Amino acid sequence: MLIGQDWCDAQSGERLDVENPANGEIFASIAAGGAAEIDAAVKVARKAFESAEWAKMRPIDRSRLLEQVALKIEAHADELALLESYDNGKPKHLAMMVDVPAAVEVFRYMAGWCTKIYGKTLPVSGDGRQYHAYTLRQPIGVVGAIVPWNYPLSMAAWKIASALAAGCTVVLKPSEVTSLTTLRLAELMLEAGVPPGVLNIVTGVGEKAGEALITHPDVDKIAFTGSTPVGKHILRSSANDLRRVSLELGGKSPTIIMPDADLDKAIPDAAMAIFFNSGQTCFAGSRLLCHESIYDDVIAGINEVARNLPIGPGQDANTMIGPVVNKKQRERIESYIKIGQEEGAEAISPDAELPGQGYFVKPTILSGATEQSRVFNEEIFGPVLAATKFSTEEEAIRLANKSRFGLGANLYCKNVKTAHKMAAAIHAGTVWINTYFVVDSAMPFGGFKESGIGREVGDEGVLMFTESKSVCALLDD
Ligand code: NAP
Ligand code: MG
Repeated sequence: MLIGQDWCDAQSGERLDVENPANGEIFASIAAGGAAEIDAAVKVARKAFESAEWAKMRPIDRSRLLEQVALKIEAHADELALLESYDNGKPKHLAMMVDVPAAVEVFRYMAGWCTKIYGKTLPVSGDGRQYHAYTLRQPIGVVGAIVPWNYPLSMAAWKIASALAAGCTVVLKPSEVTSLTTLRLAELMLEAGVPPGVLNIVTGVGEKAGEALITHPDVDKIAFTGSTPVGKHILRSSANDLRRVSLELGGKSPTIIMPDADLDKAIPDAAMAIFFNSGQTCFAGSRLLCHESIYDDVIAGINEVARNLPIGPGQDANTMIGPVVNKKQRERIESYIKIGQEEGAEAISPDAELPGQGYFVKPTILSGATEQSRVFNEEIFGPVLAATKFSTEEEAIRLANKSRFGLGANLYCKNVKTAHKMAAAIHAGTVWINTYFVVDSAMPFGGFKESGIGREVGDEGVLMFTESKSVCALLDD
């Protein structure tokens, strides 16, 4: 773990095994921190927050520092992608394409914000006397960041880059199953010149290290990405002292294919929107809503795409579908495939042989999943697509919105008017039109309904790490 500039073990001496999901082998171990380490890290983060070195750093110098971090990550891209692939299972070449560039870009993007966080002057009417009123945007303080295992490096980078741009300091707890790239990132950030204490990493399990972080009295804000149940738990526990909370949670995002869609594009996109990262993406297109006139062709087309996706370990250069992250997730996903069939859906998947070892799951379509079914409503978090048909635009919108989640939606439609009307009507934090998976540092990202509270990255994402203060001065005597 990293506390200040000290790389340390847990006081208890406890460690957690790190497993390669492609073969089940234990290849590393990490320290299992708890309340003592969280407390030490929060103290160091508070001291760094108040230090002149950090608090008075010139915005332009903070900007340069974040750019240095971006350059460091870029220089170590290959190593980080490989590490992510061993730890999480994902194909290394895809981590090189998605996870690592996302981390680089958010530091580069947020470097620009360091010099652009400012308030406004306010035309107060008051009682007729003359006032000078303005707002200040001030860093919130010590941030407790908690991230999941599906995009470990990029999710950590999103939170750290935004918080540091705003002038906060961070204690981050990665997922117990994927802590390695976060630890390496922290090492690279120290090398890049980030002052010790500004970023601290405490590894350990959610119930101990995570719980200690969300309840620590000296943490000003919790920035969380993970499951909806844990997000709700964090919100409840924040009620005691009203600490600031932002939540990026689960989803059940629809891919909607309208009758006029370009199917040569919509079919491969719909397939990759659910099968990429073995379906372990919060905004995965896990529900297919397809117009009845093209439904059979689309289902056959998606299965054909799936048939051509090589399944294997993440270190093979041609693998497109790696293992899921662990045994527990594989069992969960398999149980959902059974549930879907019991509920009356037809399970369609390629004939492919799965590798003998490791936690692999075949890309699967559950065709004919009804809107009442569990597989249509619950987040499966695997390469499983719940597919259903609709007959009118109104029905497509109704089905899209018939979810307690509202993270994303992919809409395939040639008619520009229909597309924009539907985009406005869909309850989701992001709507992609004739594209999918475009997640960008400049585009605020987050969820409606039970998919979360707040927006990460973009202008909204950096301001989420600030408090707004109104200052009002009387100018008359
Ligand atoms: P999770 O179980 O909620 O875990 C997320 C993080 O919270 C992990 O670091 C976990 O630690 C920690 N945690 C667990 N219990 C805690 C507690 N009581 N107090 C504090 N922290 C605690 O979710 P996951 O299974 O890792 O990730 C999958 C979920 O994340 C999916 O639902 C997915 O949709 C969602 N997700 C959302 C977004 C988004 O931006 N909206 C992005 C990615 C993922 P341990 O790992 O040690 O248990
Ligand atoms: Mg856990």
